[in-house]
Formats: sequence, C-alpha cells, structure tokens
Amino acid sequence: MATARTMGVRAIRTDARMNPRSKRVAAASVDANTSVENVVIIGSGPAGYTAAIYAARANLKPLVFEGYQAGGVRGGQLMTTTEVENFPGFPEGITGPDLMDRMRQQAERWGSELYTEDVEYVDLTQRPFTVRSSDREVKANAVILATGATAMRLNIPNEHTFWSRGISACAICDGASPLFKGQELAVVGGGDTATEEAIYLTKYGKHVHLLVRGDKMRASKAMQNRVLENKNITVHFNTQVEDVYGDEKGRMAGIHLFDSKTNEKRDLEIKGLFYGIGHKPNSSIFADQVETDSKGYVLVKNGGPETSVEGVFSAGDLHDTEWRQAVTAAGSGCQAAIACERYLTSEDLVQEYVHKYEEKPKSAEAAPHNTTKEEFDSNAVRFRGQYALRKLYHESDKLISVLYTSPGCGPCRSLKPILSKIVDEYGEKIKFVEINVDEDPEIAEAAGVMGTPCVQFFKNKKRVHVINGVKMKSDYRKAIETNA
Ligand SMILES: Cc1cc2nc3c(=O)[nH]c(=O)nc-3n(C[C@H](O)[C@H](O)[C@H](O)COP(=O)(O)OP(=O)(O)OC[C@H]3O[C@@H](n4cnc5c(N)ncnc54)[C@H](O)[C@@H]3O)c2cc1C
Repeated sequence: MATARTMGVRAIRTDARMNPRSKRVAAASVDANTSVENVVIIGSGPAGYTAAIYAARANLKPLVFEGYQAGGVRGGQLMTTTEVENFPGFPEGITGPDLMDRMRQQAERWGSELYTEDVEYVDLTQRPFTVRSSDREVKANAVILATGATAMRLNIPNEHTFWSRGISACAICDGASPLFKGQELAVVGGGDTATEEAIYLTKYGKHVHLLVRGDKMRASKAMQNRVLENKNITVHFNTQVEDVYGDEKGRMAGIHLFDSKTNEKRDLEIKGLFYGIGHKPNSSIFADQVETDSKGYVLVKNGGPETSVEGVFSAGDLHDTEWRQAVTAAGSGCQAAIACERYLTSEDLVQEYVHKYEEKPKSAEAAPHNTTKEEFDSNAVRFRGQYALRKLYHESDKLISVLYTSPGCGPCRSLKPILSKIVDEYGEKIKFVEINVDEDPEIAEAAGVMGTPCVQFFKNKKRVHVINGVKMKSDYRKAIETNA
C-alpha cells in the first residue's frame, strides 16, 4: 500500500526561483511503495538544525541525519566551545552545547525526524536522491547538505600514538582533565580558535604556550590583545611542531620544535598539545557529485544555497570560506530550506505534513546528581559519581561501564544518549556509572583519564577496555559483549 509520502501532492507555493545553471539529474523509476522524503538534511550544526526548523515549519517533515562521529559530533563545531557571546537573543551568552540543544529541541518540536547517524553514501545522480547512513537508506526529492567542517591535524609522526593521550583537538572538551591540571600546555595555531583555546586552558594549566607558524597571528585584533596581555600565555612566533615525545611510562613529555627564522631545533616540555589549526570541509561523501573548489568547499551560485545539482542545496561552513559563524550558518540553513521548499513546489513534489506539537513533561529533564550512600541500590543499573563506582568496583561481579564526562564537553553530551540506549539493550547484564571529572577529579586521575568523553570497562577489579572519544556504536557493543 502506498504510504503518505508516496501519495497525493499538494503545492504550497509557486514562486520558485531556480538557478538556471544547475544540473538537472535523470529521474529513476521508483517502486510505488517506496517512501520518498520531501527533504533529507545531512548535518546538525546551526545550518542543519535551522534548515530543519524552517523545513518542518513548512510542513515538509524533514528527515535529518545529525551525524555521529565521521564529520564531528551531533550539534557540530559549537559542541566544542564554551560561551557563545555573539548569537543574537542571548544577552548573557550561552554555552555552545546549550545553544545546540535548544536548536535541536526546536527542530524536533516542529516535527523533524532526527537520526544521530553518519551518512556513508549518497547518490545525487538520479532522482529521487538516495541517502544511506550506518543504519538506514532513504530516498528524497531534495537534499540539504550541511556537513560543516572538521578540525585539521598536523599529521606529525607520533600523532597517532599520543592522540587523546596528550594531543587533543578540543581544549574545551579535554582541558579540564586532571592530567592537564597545573601542567605546562601548548596550543598550535594563530587564529581565533587557537587563541580562544589558549585563553581557556589558562584556567587549568600552569602555563600555556601558543605556537604560531608565521611571524604574526591571524586571530582578530581583540583576541590577539587578550593573548598578548595574558601573563600565563607565551606566544612563540615562527615555530613549527615537528613531533611529540613521551616518557618511560608512555605519557606525553614534550614536543620537538623548529624555529623557521633561526633554523634552530629545540624541545619544549609540556603535558598537553592542543590543535587549533583550522578546518576541512566535510564533503568527501559527495565531492564527486556536486561541484566543489580545490579544498573541497561546495560551490554555490551567487552566495545562495543552490549547488551544481538541481534539488541539492548547501548550507553553512560547508561552502562558506569567509564568514564561518554560527549565525551566518543558521542564516544559510534558513535560505537552503526556503529554496528547497520553492524547488519542491515548482516540481509539484510537496507532500505536506501537519505536525501536532506535544509538550514534554518537565520531570523528564530533572537534573541528575551523584548517587549517595543512602540512595545506592546494588540492583540498579545506572549510577553517578565516585561513591557508586568505588562500591561497584569492589562488590559487583558485573561488567561496569564508566563514562567520564566534563562540564561544557559537547561530545560528551552527544555520546550520553547513545550510550544510554546501548545500556538499555544490555539491561541488568551491566552496571553503568557516569563520572564528572570536575566533581570527582581524584577518581578520574586514578583511572588515568586523559580527556573526555572516555568510557572505561571494569570487571572483577580489573580495567578490561578503554574507549576514548566518540566511537562507533558497534565499538561499545563489542566491548560489552566481549567482557560482560
Ligand atoms: C572552538 C570554536 C568556537 C567557535 N565559537 C563561535 C562563536 O562564539 N560564535 C559563532 O558565531 N561561531 C563560532 N564558531 C564557528 C561556528 O561554530 C561555525 O561557524 C558553525 O558551527 C558552522 O555551522 P555548520 O552548521 O555549517 O557546521 P558544523 O557546526 O560544522 O556542523 C556540521 C554537522 O554536520 C555533521 N556531519 C558531518 N559529516 C556528516 C555525515 N557524513 N553524516 C551526517 N552528518 C555529518 C556533523 O556531525 C555536524 O553535526 C566557533 C567554532 C569553533 C571551532
């Protein structure tokens, strides 16, 4: 039987303004029973969520692949920042993760269908388009690409060895780790990201070295001044990182540097190296199907959202090489959704959905707190804090999964609901404990946690497995199945 999405189409508006130079791709024959979405949105940064809000408000019921790991976590780049002071409507500022949570809730409220999954394959050469994620394949009459950009790496020889064990691309996520507290740290880069990270790290490190490759910083004048005036930051110009070295225990001990002005090499003893060296557009899955520039940024027509393929739109940092701000990404998400609606209308492809909004009960959002001695119930599955972890470590014969998080760590926020669903799957076979490394620094230090999120698995008083960062869902399942 035909589904709602394969049935009658009702046009909403007919003022389509299509780019005459966009390539029109061939229509493939589709089984009458195949469900075809109005629009699939790939990405959940400010661009993706704004496109979702607008498309959902236009009754298009957008299906959103939020991303999970491949091109950054759900919520995008702002999940790795603290205060966002320049997004309109928040006079007191708002943290990046809070802002992205709000955008997500707004997209959901109007009926967007959200999947925290990476898109692995797209076919934009035939209509309807095909979009396949790790868990499902969907057809769509239009696609909005909003996959943003990812932090670049230096690719130095020992990077892999020390990645998440001293090297980090997210000072905001990892800076609060006890192993960096009171230590000498370094940040590579001279732009806004690097300067922001250096300032942030002075809250935790003893001293921060900012390593700038050229003879000046690219950051805004205001950020340069904040860095240069900060006594806890030393700026090293003309300085390149050649490699990282460790101590006899395999922990990061320092970095080899090269001074491009004097041609001298020297070592700097630091315990943490943070990257702030720019971003690469996340366009690899479709770069051979829509026009891009030599760096992989999607080419759009006249600054608008239209790409080289009719019915495929771009939004945000994926094509923006100049402004790259949350508000400009959101604005371009809005443009993409409106252009998409016009396209679907002009093609007589709109299938309208009226979403009935239902308020969530407030109690579902009650703040969690550390499990106390009085509250501890050995039959429960979920716990929080070091009291529960110590108790379970000594007394439980079940596999204990421990998630270490830190305040303001966006990737932790993205991982939590995913891990929670996985914990549900295994029920009473495991115990789950969440540790906030800021509240319980001793236990995080004793467990050797170098950054968050970090998941450690314990069985019979032994640590049996560790997963740093946000990894594939199958990695967590495999760790549980192998060790439970
Ligand atoms: C440290 C830092 C601080 C910043 N501070 C500010 C600030 O204070 N104010 C401001 O305005 N801007 C700030 N910015 C810039 C701002 O974050 C970006 O301009 C904005 O996030 C771009 O939004 P976007 O939606 O285009 O992309 P992104 O935020 O990069 O989001 C891309 C999305 O696409 C998803 N994705 C990627 N690949 C796939 C795939 N294969 N399948 C499914 N999904 C995928 C990702 O998971 C992610 O959800 C900051 C950036 C950084 C790095």
